[in-house]
Amino acid sequence: GSSKSSKQAGTADVPRKKVLKPTVPSSDKPEEDNSVEETKPIDEKSLKEALEDDIIDQLRGVDKTAAKQIFSEIVVRGDQVHWEDIAGLEAAKNSLKEAVVYPFLRPDLFRGLREPVRGMLLFGPPGTGKTMLARAVATESNSTFFSISASSLTSKYLGESEKLVRALFAIAKKLSPSIIFVDEIDSLMGSRNNDGENESSRRIKNEFLVQWSSLSSAAAGNKSSSGENGTDDDNEEDERVLVLAATNLPWSIDEAARRRFVRRQYIPLPETETRRKQLTKLLAHQTHTLTEEDFSALLDLTNGYSGSDITSLAKDAAMGPLRELGDKLLFTPRDQIRAITLQDVKNSLSYIKPSVSSEGLEQYEDWANKFGSSG
Ligand code: ADP
Repeated sequence: GSSKSSKQAGTADVPRKKVLKPTVPSSDKPEEDNSVEETKPIDEKSLKEALEDDIIDQLRGVDKTAAKQIFSEIVVRGDQVHWEDIAGLEAAKNSLKEAVVYPFLRPDLFRGLREPVRGMLLFGPPGTGKTMLARAVATESNSTFFSISASSLTSKYLGESEKLVRALFAIAKKLSPSIIFVDEIDSLMGSRNNDGENESSRRIKNEFLVQWSSLSSAAAGNKSSSGENGTDDDNEEDERVLVLAATNLPWSIDEAARRRFVRRQYIPLPETETRRKQLTKLLAHQTHTLTEEDFSALLDLTNGYSGSDITSLAKDAAMGPLRELGDKLLFTPRDQIRAITLQDVKNSLSYIKPSVSSEGLEQYEDWANKFGSSG
């Protein structure tokens, strides 16, 4: 049809670096002409809203209020995370590059046998960088990032959540490549939800699974009929939607959901060298007297600490010099505040404790051995 001209949606970075095209939803009638206007001299906020309204208008069978809510609460913008911001976790980064970033950037190479997965799970102790990794993947793969926590879906009125889930997937397809990041997936896909205690969470879970399968079947359909349909760009982009999820409680995800996460990546506690890098980086912009030996001594003392424990530790230690001033802090010139010392960090170590116990850790390792993807 003539309505399929693609136009660049202005120069604003909203939604992220996307060329918005009026596309034909895979299971729907053709669209009327709905092309996005060329750049107009309007401010960024109204441009953003205009683009969003335009996208919402193009979606069929999607509740408009729900779609608006997705845009206002769930599409993440700004504050980008890059690979370099994340200390260590090389295995996880490589695995995410191979499974998501490269396929999103070079869809032409990842077909057939190399077809990318539609679901990837990051599991491990809390505070190990799972959320950071998900955000970095979105940045590095130039994708639209949808971040939902299960609780943001479950707290809505009966029936509303399902509309939200449908809107979420519809918009994700529209703005593909997209990553739907679900934090605390266990509370959405938990096996406990089957016990009937909560009808509404069971329904959200089902709707989520239905929408998620529709992603893969659309992809399979396109492939099998590629001869007749040709290689339609829009369909190709439809395929580039990935559900990336994180959990601290992998064992409470029910089996059906677990199987859909074809890749299950263990995000372990940081190793010694990673802790060194992270601590060094955290203290880099502060005046401190810590020597290389001091850092090495701290590495032994922080065994078992997660990335977020290390961050809390450094933040607390940085308060040391201020804390001892008490009210005098208000009158002390900045250049007279003393440097952070090893003793400050040691003091903080006495009450900032690792959030995962060694038994807890064992449970993760066991699950990783049983169900984790290697690599
Ligand atoms: P998770 O999602 O695994 O619970 P987050 O990604 O939310 O953990 O990390 C929480 C905080 O801990 C981050 O905002 C960051 O300050 C710090 N952190 C955790 N892991 C790392 C890491 N590998 N490199 C740098 N900072 C980290």
